[in-house]
Amino acid sequence: MNDSVAIIGGGPAGLMAAEVLSGHGVQVDVYDSMSSLGRKFLMAGKSGLNLTHSEPFEKFVSRYGNRKNEVEKWLSDFTPDDLREWARGLGVETFVGTSGRVFPKEMKASPLLRAWLKRLGDAGVNFHLRHRWVGGIIAGDGGGSIIKFETPEDEKTVHADAVILALGGGSWARLGSDGVWVHWLKQAGVKVEALKPSNCGFDVTWSPHFRERFDGQPLKSVVLSFGSFHQQGEFIVTKEGVEGSLIYAASAPLRDEIEANGKAVLELDMTPDRSHEWLVERLSKPRGSRSMSSHLEKTVGLKGVKVGLLHEFMPKEEFSNTERLAAFIKHMPIPLIATRPLDEAISSAGGVMFESLDEHLMLRELPGIFCAGEMLDWEAPTGGYLLTACFASGRKAGNSALAWLKDHQ
Ligand SMILES: Cc1cc2nc3c(=O)[nH]c(=O)nc-3n(C[C@H](O)[C@H](O)[C@H](O)COP(=O)(O)OP(=O)(O)OC[C@H]3O[C@@H](n4cnc5c(N)ncnc54)[C@H](O)[C@@H]3O)c2cc1C
Repeated sequence: MNDSVAIIGGGPAGLMAAEVLSGHGVQVDVYDSMSSLGRKFLMAGKSGLNLTHSEPFEKFVSRYGNRKNEVEKWLSDFTPDDLREWARGLGVETFVGTSGRVFPKEMKASPLLRAWLKRLGDAGVNFHLRHRWVGGIIAGDGGGSIIKFETPEDEKTVHADAVILALGGGSWARLGSDGVWVHWLKQAGVKVEALKPSNCGFDVTWSPHFRERFDGQPLKSVVLSFGSFHQQGEFIVTKEGVEGSLIYAASAPLRDEIEANGKAVLELDMTPDRSHEWLVERLSKPRGSRSMSSHLEKTVGLKGVKVGLLHEFMPKEEFSNTERLAAFIKHMPIPLIATRPLDEAISSAGGVMFESLDEHLMLRELPGIFCAGEMLDWEAPTGGYLLTACFASGRKAGNSALAWLKDHQ
């Protein structure tokens, strides 16, 4: 009889592991608690499906920060170019956008997922939907594992020679990955770093007037600085605070600062193309009977939400001091008091710690059980880095399970 592998979690990581194993004649069963697979992948498709990035490999791997070395091992075997080639194999052509990000030409995930599931089904992979793993894998070294699932009808117990966990992180729980597994793996002696929001928004205590007036307004062409982070981009003011691509990009250090000190103050340059001196010179022109808002618009082109921020955070009495006004325009401090909840984040930081895994992504505490995808303790900004690492780690876990099965026949 063929070796059997149970894969729990049918997102990008789990399905990639299924592809590797089924390609080598292993009997693969994919279990997922939802009624369809790849829900978060499909959600990623709603914003165009940023599959990967075209920048040089060295730069690409640097995006994984202090997990660069671990993630690089998976990416060397499945590079961003390999990922594009793989998509092409499924009939999905990709293109490089102006920012260097790579998208499918159709800018959505459903054609790719449909073709992929068909190919996996044709290769003999069995899909078991509405099967929720409820913890308590019993692993016997070499003897395989016993896994229990809850289904709408009953409880099911299955045996597999090896298991791959690809359960995702803890954001957007309604799409399937609810992070409940953290508790179960900890019970089994696995070291797991608490899941935290990554690529997330933040709370700001706006005044009622500012909140009311500027909720939903974009701040465009600003430079956000925080510690060693400096990047130009845009973000949105929300009722609760701030969100959007530039905020997500800075979210890891901002989150860590809030965790350590209870708050983080980011700094905005609202006129990155204009110097402090230029602003002072222009702002010093006589105001006459003009209101401050119209003076700001006429002299330095500042209006709307940017002027709103000045009124929100700059002491009223300092508006007549052009040096101070220019300083606020170039270094607007915005105090963040908390991250938005994990469920709202694009991805999760934290997860299964690398010290609990061997170099084959096998759990040291549970021989024959491998982990892949966002449930591992790494994080990355948006830009295609999340999906690329999920695919590559799924491949790594699949190949590792294959080698392990060979050694334990
Ligand atoms: C709105 C949004 C947009 C995004 N856009 C992008 C993007 O453009 N580019 C990018 O790189 N990344 C993007 N991401 C992130 C990316 O989608 C995820 O990082 C990726 O899907 C994670 O893959 P995964 O296989 O590890 O986990 P998931 O895709 O989360 O899959 C995990 C699976 O495990 C199942 N599961 C969980 N617990 C159990 C259980 N107990 N029993 C059975 N099954 C279980 C879940 O139902 C789910 O199907 C986006 C995320 C969001 C939320």
